[in-house]
Amino acid sequence: MNNPSPHLEVRRFEERLRHHQKQLEHSMLAAAEQGRQEVAEDTLDVADQAVFSYQKEMIFSQGTEGHSQLTLVRLALERLQDGTFGECLHCGQTIGEKRLEALPWTPYCIECQEKIEAGQIEDVVRAA
Ligand SMILES: [Zn+2]
Repeated sequence: MNNPSPHLEVRRFEERLRHHQKQLEHSMLAAAEQGRQEVAEDTLDVADQAVFSYQKEMIFSQGTEGHSQLTLVRLALERLQDGTFGECLHCGQTIGEKRLEALPWTPYCIECQEKIEAGQIEDVVRAA
């Protein structure tokens, strides 16, 4: 089936991605300046806090700086321009809308993400 997600609210995702990009750049700068000190999360609204904690977890669990996360956000913005946003980079399936809501920068559907985490397929984004 070739069904290019006409209902995705592209502009809304773009705004969220740009917002994240700024946050990440800011938090990377802050991290560089302050090491692993906590960012003032009480200045964020509740929705941002949830996402922000998730981002921090991802960054910490990967054991890397926010760089790879920032790359994901930039690539997602490129896919928005291309009109391929919401398609899994590996299998081409449409990524679930709930997954995109939670992780608008994700390049993979949940199935492929699980395979990547299990080492069954290559993560083309991280390999790039
Ligand atoms: Zn996939």
